[in-house]
Amino acid sequence: MKINTKLPAVGTNIFTIMSKLAADHESINLGQGFPDFNPDPTLISLVSKAMNDGYNQYPFMTGVPALRHTIAEKMFKTSGHQYDVDQEVTVTSGATEALMAAVISCAGPGDEVIVLEPCYDSYIPAITLSSATPICVPLTPPTSGSTTFSIDWDRVASSITPATKILILNFPHNPTSSVLTEADLDELERLSNQHDILFISDEVYEHIVFTKEGHKSLATRPALAARTFVISSFGKTTHTTGWKLGYCCAPPALTNELRKVHQFMVFTVPSPFQYAMAQYCKDPNTYLGLAAFYQEKRDHLINGLNQTRFKPLPSDGTFFLLADYSEISDLPEADFSIWLTKHHGVTVIPVSAFYSDPRSSTSNHNIIRFCFAKQPATLNAAIDRLITV
Ligand code: PMP
Ligand code: GLN
Repeated sequence: MKINTKLPAVGTNIFTIMSKLAADHESINLGQGFPDFNPDPTLISLVSKAMNDGYNQYPFMTGVPALRHTIAEKMFKTSGHQYDVDQEVTVTSGATEALMAAVISCAGPGDEVIVLEPCYDSYIPAITLSSATPICVPLTPPTSGSTTFSIDWDRVASSITPATKILILNFPHNPTSSVLTEADLDELERLSNQHDILFISDEVYEHIVFTKEGHKSLATRPALAARTFVISSFGKTTHTTGWKLGYCCAPPALTNELRKVHQFMVFTVPSPFQYAMAQYCKDPNTYLGLAAFYQEKRDHLINGLNQTRFKPLPSDGTFFLLADYSEISDLPEADFSIWLTKHHGVTVIPVSAFYSDPRSSTSNHNIIRFCFAKQPATLNAAIDRLITV
């Protein structure tokens, strides 16, 4: 039977490929982004308690009310924006489902959706499945004058056309670890005054920001909140990436559309996890200490890399750190990453994989991504191997 694929450009994603390669070569996996340690035992026992208490049947389609309350309170505490628990907060199957539902619900044939490259791998397939057109605007890569990837707002502005429907943002940014500043939010407000566009703001690393200014959510500006799907995930915040518990906060009209898709993608999300998370994250201490926790791990890896020929780049947020390998090799990033796994037993992710054309020279800057959400012993073992590269 002949099938006309809807996603011709999609194969197995880079995280799966590199994790499999790491397992095959008994390599230390600093590639795919997940912690190699357990969540708080209190959180785990809250899940079994919820199961034993009988919370094992379908919860509400929009999410367990107690969890939507916890999310709304958390958003209010951190951004100052009060989302309505019933009309503006939806619990989703990870951020991935929220992203897919947001794009599908609002973009269609003839619409353009802008992404900033390098970008997380689920955005372009979501746009393609919506029959909309992805428009990739590159971040400015590090040069001799700057050590980070930055947004060229003139370039973003000039890529907006009458067909532009959505601009997708992701700060703190995977893979580059860049964060937004107040000046960036000013630029976004300017764009939103000039154009009738929506924003999808993927803020899954919202609690892992290392700058003293902290996380700048689009929810902090009422004019932006009014046209934004703010999406996040408990996976990053509570070390539970495998639980796939995410959420979306958006004004009622946007939430209404998102829920129409959510209802038929998954209908709802496993109830014991929702009850447990509702209880656990009521206490802000469960997320407010996360940046300090990860900053120690980031600095551990930076200090280690400083003893190698890798040159770490600044990491202002997320649990990722980029490093330049120009002193070691001029292989393209994907080839270098495979070589590093096979010959030195450390697995990383090529940043080029986050571009729509991973092989192009404009997508290759001799930079790879390390995940430092690891126990000190794992980081030490990786550093010992990297010293020999
Ligand atoms: N967005 C970004 C930027 C991510 O890095 C990830 C995954 N780690 C996701 C979305 C997906 O989150 P989830 O696992 O909650 O679906
Ligand atoms: N977000 C994770 C990363 O960037 C991976 C998620 C996945 O494997 N789909 O590494």
